Amino acid sequence: MDYEAVIGLETHVQLKTKSKMWCGCANEFGAPPNTNVCPVCLGLPGVLPVANEEALRLTALTGLLLNCQVSRFAKFDRKNYFYPDMPKNYQITQYDKPSTSNGYVDFEFNAGVSRVRITRAHLEEDVGKNFHFEQNSGVDFNRAGVPLLEIVSEPDLTSAEMAYQYLNALKDILLYGAVSDCDMEKGMVRCDVNVSVRPAGQQELGAKIEIKNMNSFSGVRRALEYEIPRQMEVVKQGGKLSQETRRWNDVAGITEIMRTKEMAHDYRYFPEPDLMPFVPNDAWLAAVRGRMVELPLARKHRFMAAYQLPAPDAETFVYDRPLAGYFEAAAVGAKSPKAVANWVINNLRAKLAETQTPLDQVKIKPGDLPELVTLVESGKISSKIAQDVFAEMFAGGESPAKIVERKGLAQVSDAGAIETFCDEVIAANPRSVQDYKAGKAAALNFLKGQVMKASKGKANPNLAGEILERKLKS
Ligand SMILES: [Zn+2]
Repeated sequence: MDYEAVIGLETHVQLKTKSKMWCGCANEFGAPPNTNVCPVCLGLPGVLPVANEEALRLTALTGLLLNCQVSRFAKFDRKNYFYPDMPKNYQITQYDKPSTSNGYVDFEFNAGVSRVRITRAHLEEDVGKNFHFEQNSGVDFNRAGVPLLEIVSEPDLTSAEMAYQYLNALKDILLYGAVSDCDMEKGMVRCDVNVSVRPAGQQELGAKIEIKNMNSFSGVRRALEYEIPRQMEVVKQGGKLSQETRRWNDVAGITEIMRTKEMAHDYRYFPEPDLMPFVPNDAWLAAVRGRMVELPLARKHRFMAAYQLPAPDAETFVYDRPLAGYFEAAAVGAKSPKAVANWVINNLRAKLAETQTPLDQVKIKPGDLPELVTLVESGKISSKIAQDVFAEMFAGGESPAKIVERKGLAQVSDAGAIETFCDEVIAANPRSVQDYKAGKAAALNFLKGQVMKASKGKANPNLAGEILERKLKS
């Protein structure tokens, strides 16, 4: 019997706010331990939380980015449990009335586009961080109270690779919306993975096994590459899986049991009495909607359709948005946007890197690039000369037509002038002429090179070849 995997992900993402969720402490990474703390985020008695409005806006914006419904009535709840990194002994989260729900993420997978439904994206607070030393342990509360978004997917994923691609697409979307910096190294994105197996085609889900606290996407992929075959092996052998929580041991490359269903927490959720429900009005939601951006995948498809770019070029512009902005300014109305893209992706990028020039200080006016393309395509200058013209454009910002005129670079397509160059070259290279006549085809290329050299690269190379060949054969 064939088995299939069913995977759902809960992705925690730190929001990009200046201050924490309920207090004015800085939301910054890397400060000395316990320096960004106050009575509120330390959970001292008698303090009251005040919601960070930007965090609420970023949550609503994430909802829009993930095609969710943004609720007109959201509330906060207490999730009760005891753990040393959480001094209040409860986490403020959103339980039955989250800020956003019912969305989806489209992403590229297996040469097509896959969709994963998003159950909800709700707002909560991060906890502190425990450190274990040789003799003792410590807790850093700098992270306690940092706004955290939990993005819960439906169990629509079916393989380790698909989960990996989904996570990367999700990260790209959040980066695009400037919702989070998504810096994995700084723990800004963490994942809980729910995975079960069932006979292929069966509707009912198998026992859900959760792998907790994954802090890298490649770790998620590896954990699933281990866990899915493990579960399949158990059921194939006639064994029974039961609901449990496991952890990923990265060094050993295995998942290990943390707790069974019997040991699961009862969080005793109840409405947070210190916070009013959040009921955004039309103007507030409209302002959030004004921050919407084009999604990466939509952008890629638009670049491919509007500018006839191949997928790799379009992807370059998905990941380098300033460069894409420059390209779009150049490509507007260009007859050959693909040729303009080549100049931007190959030549401009190389020059920027070589001279360490930031893009906003580039002297080439975007509109000058289509002009350069036209000069080449119309045969006015050779593609070799175009390289020199481009270098001048980059150095001084002059238009290509002006450079060509000032330096007399226009390609010589006047047959009479080229004939003269050919006669000179034939006269000066009797041995090569003899070789050619003896059947050595390569000699023609050498002679053609000499004609180009004599014309300082300006002779139309095709015309030069034709005239030379005609003269040699006569
Ligand atoms: Zn604080």
